[in-house]
Amino acid sequence: MTRLQVTVLGATGSIGLSTLDVVSRHADRYSLFAVTAFSRMTELEALCLTHRPQFAVVADEAQAGALQVRLAEAGLATRVLFGDGGLCEVAAHPEVDVVMAAIVGAAGLRPTLSAVQAGKRVLLANKEALVMSGALFMQALEQSSAVLLPIDSEHNAIFQCLPSDYARGMAEVGVRRILLTASGGPFRQTPLAELAQVTPEQACAHPNWSMGRKISVDSASMMNKGLELIEACWLFGARPEQVEVVVHPQSVIHSMVDYVDGSVLAQLGNPDMRTPIAHALAWPERIDSGVSALDLLRIGQLDFQAPDEERFPCLRLARQAAQVGGTAPAMLNAANEVAVEAFLQRRIRFTEIASIIADVLEREAARTAGCLEDVLMADQQARRLAGEWLGRHGR
Ligand code: NDP
Repeated sequence: MTRLQVTVLGATGSIGLSTLDVVSRHADRYSLFAVTAFSRMTELEALCLTHRPQFAVVADEAQAGALQVRLAEAGLATRVLFGDGGLCEVAAHPEVDVVMAAIVGAAGLRPTLSAVQAGKRVLLANKEALVMSGALFMQALEQSSAVLLPIDSEHNAIFQCLPSDYARGMAEVGVRRILLTASGGPFRQTPLAELAQVTPEQACAHPNWSMGRKISVDSASMMNKGLELIEACWLFGARPEQVEVVVHPQSVIHSMVDYVDGSVLAQLGNPDMRTPIAHALAWPERIDSGVSALDLLRIGQLDFQAPDEERFPCLRLARQAAQVGGTAPAMLNAANEVAVEAFLQRRIRFTEIASIIADVLEREAARTAGCLEDVLMADQQARRLAGEWLGRHGR
């Protein structure tokens, strides 16, 4: 069997490491072509020594030079590239078959689009890229031979529950609604009055999933579910009102599809990202992911609740941005990235994340997102306005 060449964008992160774990279990099928990182250089060097990729990509030229020397001293032929150019090169390289898009945030947009335009099998974890540039991203997908497979456990579940011809349209394939499940995060039951005092450590302590810090805060504010709602609309051709968020604290059902005949199909599994990663790597085949079998008898009970939008205003803001369309989701995403970073740096309260996003969306009207430049300009403008909010409030 010819081994597929895999690039892992964001290899030092939570999804990146889970991907390397699955890839390593199937050395007969996959070979690591490239790994990329941004700040964790020691970890990247260790990954290179273990997996011996052809390329590694870092943030800047100085880091690249230093890593290149250390790898050469260790006898490795790995070539070290840097910056956006390096990321796009390893995403679109002719020898690459599969690209895991697992850079966090807007920084992942260009390399992920490069992989799509180059016709790769793109495993999409970086939801922010699709949220920002939805129409352009889907257009690039249509115009290339790329295959896009969702890694978010919810979207991967929906993909598994939909018929293979779902691209014909939700109504055409008999789908009534998508039921997007949400754990509710660490603050599902925290008294509302205490939310202003919660710390980054509490926000990052997710009850069911172990994830990077940005998505952990997004899960705590339920902005993650808002971004996922927008992601689901683009991936599956749904309108925002066809996606219903259902709080399901056990995170065992990863999402459901409700059909017009009353059937509801669900995908279940232990909350471990190696399941959707293995699914997308091998699709339409199935391979071992290293995840243990689901023990329903031990779990015993599955609960469902409606989301509380007073507690989680970010979910409402995301739904509104999805309805407005154009550059609104890109602005929502950028304002959220600035706000989450400020919260992680203890410059703002948890509850001010939503205040900043609402302020940015009120002050700047959405425009048409006709080209990538429009999206990037909206992103920059929202970052500037969010920065102004921080300045006005002395943070
Ligand atoms: P992590 O923070 O753990 O990892 C992020 C990765 O992106 C790291 O490799 C990091 O490098 C790299 N990175 C950060 N900033 C930049 C930048 N400016 N340029 C290039 N690379 C950068 O995040 P996760 O793995 O948790 O999440 C990655 C993506 O997957 C996110 O979009 C998230 O929403 C999505 N996702 C994650 C899930 C999870 O379970 N973790 C579940 C579903 C989706 P370094 O570490 O070296 O700084």
